[in-house]
Amino acid sequence: MDSETITGLKVHLVSMDEALGTIAEWVKDRQRQRHIVTADASMAVIARRDPELSDIIREADMVTPDGAGIIWASRLLRRKIVSKVSGVDLVGQLCCMSAHSGCRIFFLGAAPGVAAEAAEKLRAKYPGAQIVGTQDGYFSAKDEPGVVNTIRELAPDILLVAFGIPKQEKWIKRYKGEIGVPVSVGIGGSFDVFSGRVSRAPVWMQKRGLEWLYRLAKNPKKISKVMTLPQFAILTVLTKLKMLPN
Ligand code: UDP
Repeated sequence: MDSETITGLKVHLVSMDEALGTIAEWVKDRQRQRHIVTADASMAVIARRDPELSDIIREADMVTPDGAGIIWASRLLRRKIVSKVSGVDLVGQLCCMSAHSGCRIFFLGAAPGVAAEAAEKLRAKYPGAQIVGTQDGYFSAKDEPGVVNTIRELAPDILLVAFGIPKQEKWIKRYKGEIGVPVSVGIGGSFDVFSGRVSRAPVWMQKRGLEWLYRLAKNPKKISKVMTLPQFAILTVLTKLKMLPN
């Protein structure tokens, strides 16, 4: 899979259809455990100061361009990434794929009850979607082996992990081999959106790359995430001016 580098972040040149086609192939191979990273602008900033996250992204089997910030930077830096494959869109499309192909999905993460609510809404939207289990993301270290065991015994084809960046990426890296799921994806706040607890920005805001502003207005605690956006813009401009490599 071809990739581009955006402010030091490896991102694959992949459309939603290509991502789904590749995942459909990967789920047939239970000998390997693939890791998909949905990379947004905040991840580019966080990875610069977190070498462990940076290594995980470099080694990931697929890194999708998640969000308007990455597309904006790609344009400015004359890279080839043109369409986004966000975590939230991927979750919807995977449930749609599951309804058609029968592939089995496990939802892990978000506050108690949220993943289960998201599963209920997605089963109603995509009848036949095989969401085989859910677990919230606030279990204790003591309960971790039990969570890992439950997922392993259910043997889903796809594991969606929503702990936020970088916790979800590190968790997948640590446990994917033990769990043995063919495809694991870090999907941030997607279950919050599908459960209906967090609404998505109106389409006109999404189209103008203003989803971050909507989220901030709804939840001012998101300020630390939003503050990574100007940092990402500065990194992009410095790269454009050749004051930073890649
Ligand atoms: N979360 C979790 N366990 C934790 C920390 C966070 O399950 O220990 C969940 C949180 O409830 C939310 C998601 O992880 O549903 C993070 O969403 P956010 O939009 O902040 O993700 P990011 O922007 O980092 O992708």
